[in-house]
Amino acid sequence: MIQPAPSSEESQNAQIRLSDVPDGGGRFGSFGGMYVPETLIDALYQLESLYLKVREDKQFWDRLSDLNRSFVGRPVPLYEARGLTRRARRINQDRELGAAIWLKREDLAHTGAHKINNTLGQALLAKKMGKKRIIAETGAGQHGVASATAAAHLGLRCEVYMGAEDVRRQSLNVVRMKMLGARVIPVDSGSRTLKDATNEAMRDWMGSVEHTHYILGSVVGPHPFPAIVRDFQSVIGRETKAQALRNFGKLPDSIVACVGGGSNAAGMFYPFIDDTDVGLVGVEAGGRGPSTGEHAAPLSHGKPGVLHGSLSYVLQDPDGQTAGVHSCSAGLDYPGVGPEHSYWKDAGRVEYTDVTDDEALEAFLWCARDEGIICALETAHAVADAVNRAASMHKDQNLVINLSGRGDKDVEEAARLLGDRLDRHA
Ligand SMILES: *Cc1c(COP(=O)(O)O)cnc(C)c1O
Repeated sequence: MIQPAPSSEESQNAQIRLSDVPDGGGRFGSFGGMYVPETLIDALYQLESLYLKVREDKQFWDRLSDLNRSFVGRPVPLYEARGLTRRARRINQDRELGAAIWLKREDLAHTGAHKINNTLGQALLAKKMGKKRIIAETGAGQHGVASATAAAHLGLRCEVYMGAEDVRRQSLNVVRMKMLGARVIPVDSGSRTLKDATNEAMRDWMGSVEHTHYILGSVVGPHPFPAIVRDFQSVIGRETKAQALRNFGKLPDSIVACVGGGSNAAGMFYPFIDDTDVGLVGVEAGGRGPSTGEHAAPLSHGKPGVLHGSLSYVLQDPDGQTAGVHSCSAGLDYPGVGPEHSYWKDAGRVEYTDVTDDEALEAFLWCARDEGIICALETAHAVADAVNRAASMHKDQNLVINLSGRGDKDVEEAARLLGDRLDRHA
C-alpha cells in the first residue's frame, strides 16, 4: 500500500526529540507539572527563571566542572568487569553469547555515590542566587550527607530534615552530617520517615525562600526540580559516552541502572535518549515480590497520580492513597518516581523491570566476590538484572551498569539478611 505523504504537522512531530522536555509548563508529555500550594509557586518560578539563565552560563558550568575534577574526583572510570562478564557467560554455556559488562564507577565519586553530582550543582546555584542557607530532606541520610558536604565546601549554612525514625535507624549518617557542620532536624509527624521530612522541608522553604535554597535529592518534586537534578546528574551519561567510544569504539548496546526516585538512572540515560540503538533499562525494587504488594516499583506496578508536587506513576491503595512500600535498600524505598521516567516508560523508550530483595542480595555478593567491589544494595538491583541480560546478548556486545554507589553503608544490613549464605563459598 502506498503511504500518504505526511502532513506538515506530522513531519514536524517527527522532529520532536524525546530529549526536548520539559515544556514551558514543566511537563514531560502529560507527566510532571507544579502541583503545589500557591505560597510555593513564586519560589518555583523564581528558581525556574534563574535556572534558565544559568543553563546558558558557560562560566557556571566551567566552575562546576572544576569542582567535579578537583573535589569530587571526576571523571570516574568506566571499568571492564571481567569477573561479572565470566559469570554471565557461564549462564548459557554458548560460545556466541555473553556481552562484555562495564561498570560506571559512581562509587568512586567523593562521598561514595552519585548524589554529590546534584548537591554540588545545586549548592553552586544557591550561591549564584545569593542565598546563604540550604535545606534538604533525607531518608537514609545519603542525600543529607552529600548536601552537608557541598555546603561545607562552599561555605553555606545547611539544615537537613530527617524523619525521627530514620534519625534512630541511620545514626552514623546523622553523626557524619553533624561533623560536616550541618544541623539535623528530626521530624515527628506522620510515619516519621522520608515522606514527612520532605513535607517539612517544603514547609520551611515556603517561609524562607528569600534567603534559602531547597536542594531536592532526586529527579522528583515540582518543576523545575526534575529538570535541574537531571541536568546535574547528566555528567554520568556524558562521561560514559566519551569513555565507551574510547574503550570499545562504539556506543553501548545496553545500559542498566537502578531506579528509586530515578536520579542516577536519569543522569545516565538522558545523554543517550535520542540514540535509539542504545537499549536503556531501569530496575526498580521488587521487594518481597509483586504478588505480595511489598515492593517499591511504581513504574512496574503503579498508576499515574500526584505525589510531592508532580504527576507521575505512584504506588496507590484502592482508595488512591499513597501505598506503603518495602525494599531491602533504603534508597529505593519510595512510592513515587520522577516524571521523566513515566514519560520514557509510556513512550516505550526505556524498559522498566523489577528485581526482588533476594535477587539483589545474591548480586551484591557476585559484585563483591567476582570484582572485589562492595556495591550499594540499591546498585545490586541493577547488577542482578544486568548479569542475566548480558547472558543472552551476543559476545561482541557491550553492556554498561551504572554502579551508583558503594556499599559500606549496607554491610550490616546485608550480613543480617544473608545469614548463613555469607559463610557459603560456592
Ligand atoms: C539514593 C541512592 C539511589 C536511589 O536514588 P536515585 O535517585 O534513584 O538514583 C541509588 N543508589 C545509591 C547508591 C543511592 O545512594
